[in-house]
Amino acid sequence: MVKEELDSNKRNEAWKHLLSSGIPCTIHNCVKCCIETRMPLTSVDIERISKQGYKIKDFVVKRKGERQLKNVDGRCVFLGDDGCKIYSFRPIGCRLYPLVYDEDDGKGVIHDFCPHRHEFKVSRDDVENLFALIKELDIEL
Ligand code: SF4
Repeated sequence: MVKEELDSNKRNEAWKHLLSSGIPCTIHNCVKCCIETRMPLTSVDIERISKQGYKIKDFVVKRKGERQLKNVDGRCVFLGDDGCKIYSFRPIGCRLYPLVYDEDDGKGVIHDFCPHRHEFKVSRDDVENLFALIKELDIEL
């Protein structure tokens, strides 16, 4: 690829938003991934959230041996009228979404469930954090 094309690709990516920014979610007023969530939780997530005064039994459920965010009436227990009630303390999986781990290919992919996935850009740090998360979850199982 010639340099001009590379520069053009970079420019095309420039308008996209970091995963952790949550900007596409806010712009589109989207909470789709907070509905019937299956977001896994690490011990560190659980400790961080419970330090905010939440009881573990009120936000953690176990599915197939994995601890995940609880739903109430089909929505993440932390989803309020104005969005996530624990945004600054949210699980690492929520910070990385829509980047998810594809078990078949053993790599990080952008989940096609997210309707605004093309507006996010994935950094090398995001991919490293995803693999660290998967490793942590595997160890904790
Ligand atoms: S589905 Fe995508 S755009 Fe919607 S809230 Fe989740 S990450 Fe944000």
